[in-house]
Amino acid sequence: MNVKQQRTLTLEEKIRSKRPFIIAGPCSAETEEQVISTALQLSRDSRVDVLRAGIWKPRTRPGTFEGVGAIGLPWLQRARELTGLPVAIEVANARQVEEALSHGIDIVWIGARSTANPFSVQEIADALKGVNIPVWIKNPINPDLELWTGAVERIQQSGIQSVGLIHRGFHSYGDNEYRNTPMWNLAIEMRRRYPELIFINDPSHICGNRYLLTEVAQTAVDLAYDGLMIESHPDPDHAWSDAAQQITPDGLTQLLDNIHWVKVSENGEIDGRLSQLREQIDRMDDQLLQLLSRRMEISDEIGTYKKEHKLSILQMKRWNEIMERLSDKSKILRLSDEFIHQYFNAIHMESIRRQNSVINKKV
Ligand code: PEP
Ligand code: MN
Repeated sequence: MNVKQQRTLTLEEKIRSKRPFIIAGPCSAETEEQVISTALQLSRDSRVDVLRAGIWKPRTRPGTFEGVGAIGLPWLQRARELTGLPVAIEVANARQVEEALSHGIDIVWIGARSTANPFSVQEIADALKGVNIPVWIKNPINPDLELWTGAVERIQQSGIQSVGLIHRGFHSYGDNEYRNTPMWNLAIEMRRRYPELIFINDPSHICGNRYLLTEVAQTAVDLAYDGLMIESHPDPDHAWSDAAQQITPDGLTQLLDNIHWVKVSENGEIDGRLSQLREQIDRMDDQLLQLLSRRMEISDEIGTYKKEHKLSILQMKRWNEIMERLSDKSKILRLSDEFIHQYFNAIHMESIRRQNSVINKKV
């Protein structure tokens, strides 16, 4: 095992053992002075584990700041020497991977725009063959779990042992309080698919502003993410990219102080009370399943009746009555109208599908 592999293995162990794992640093490396002063200030908070900085920036429109490029890599090396913090950057093509490796960058991540492009991911994966550093994969900008999964598969197939996932929210058109909607359910599904991978939340790119950061970080902590990646800059308002969402290193310390950390015990349990509540939920889910199954059996019987009496499956009047009745009840039960509509629409669609198959069954 060479020295580089030894250092990387230790880093991998460190990432796995520390909860929460904090990655912080500027959106972009701008000048040597900015990188070093950010790193020194961040390292004063012992909760910070990794220094991040963008060297090549994927920008939507040309003519904006596209990163300092490879000249910034020695600045990161120097920041690591001074603080002991491992350094992480985004890579988007084979040349960037090579430059990162030749400058001893400790961790690379694949940005949201690259994850959305299988050609880019494959090129990065090929360039990483035979390399042993952690590779983190941001979710694609569009809410497509197959693209995210495909990227994980390509990177794993290249032999990378330490793959991590970064949830940075998904693009959705129109007004939204977030720059990228979190769509927590998608992230949870990805975690279900890959329970063994490191799972990091990136509140900065979800929020797009400083004001919502704590709230989003708290949700991530409550959902037991392994780590947080938060953009931090010594003078956020004058940052060359993503100025609105960056916070000073002191601001980061305050944010981390304000978070209510969930206790996770050695066997991954949060605490006894939570297990009890989860058991109750599991029992109720079982009951819901049994009720749903009974309900569908009755739908089948209705299907048989409709077939015998040559009635149409969809009876709009009846369905509107059902929804009205449920909507009134749900108010009393403090269930949101939107949720009840989605839930019963799904049940109704399944009923129709079942009745259809009863009616069309050849006997
Ligand atoms: C970044 O981390 O600065 C970045 C460009 O992120 P994303 O790929 O999530 O947009
Ligand atoms: Mn950024």
